[in-house]
Amino acid sequence: MRSDFAFLTKSGFLGARPRVGYYFTGKKIYSHIVEAIRKLKVKDWQAVPVVVGEEATVYDAIVNLFLNDVGTLYIVSEGGILEGVVSRKDLLKIVLGQADIQKIPINIIMTRMPNIVTISPEESLWSAAKKLVEHEVDSLPVVKPVFHKGREGLEVIGRVTKTTITSAFVHVGQNKYEQEEKE
Ligand code: ADP
Repeated sequence: MRSDFAFLTKSGFLGARPRVGYYFTGKKIYSHIVEAIRKLKVKDWQAVPVVVGEEATVYDAIVNLFLNDVGTLYIVSEGGILEGVVSRKDLLKIVLGQADIQKIPINIIMTRMPNIVTISPEESLWSAAKKLVEHEVDSLPVVKPVFHKGREGLEVIGRVTKTTITSAFVHVGQNKYEQEEKE
């Protein structure tokens, strides 16, 4: 094995057969980038979710948004079960209406289950990015199915946002994957 060809054979660009020698596999350079992207898993990139209880008011939700420096909040019932999602613009809209935000419960304005687009930790970050684009949302709750008090639900265990995808994009662009694989 020629050591100067090691990278090319390991990446699948060159094949090596006894008596045949080295041959070009036809694999495009571009597919190497695709592979690096598809390898990224949600569970390795997800951020901590910011959740509020169903009893929270719109005012509580806005305070939480600022304190945790996020754009989307997840509304959960007992056991951390996903019930709703509230975005910045959902909150702006209700505030513009000059409602008494200290009295209005968050579950009046939230987008509720089953209309929430979610992702599981085992899925690829690429699938998450695709969902963000297709559904035109900024954030996806990372969930796992649970059975809580006699009913099936989705427990919120993380979040994937456009920021998560941007970080991963920078990571792949820095070619860190190859370095990590070599170490
Ligand atoms: P913004 O409203 O601040 O632009 P989004 O684009 O994320 O933020 O949200 C658009 C609408 O979609 C909002 O009404 C919000 O409640 C809802 N939403 C946000 N995230 C999700 C999601 N993962 N699944 C379903 N609906 C969502």
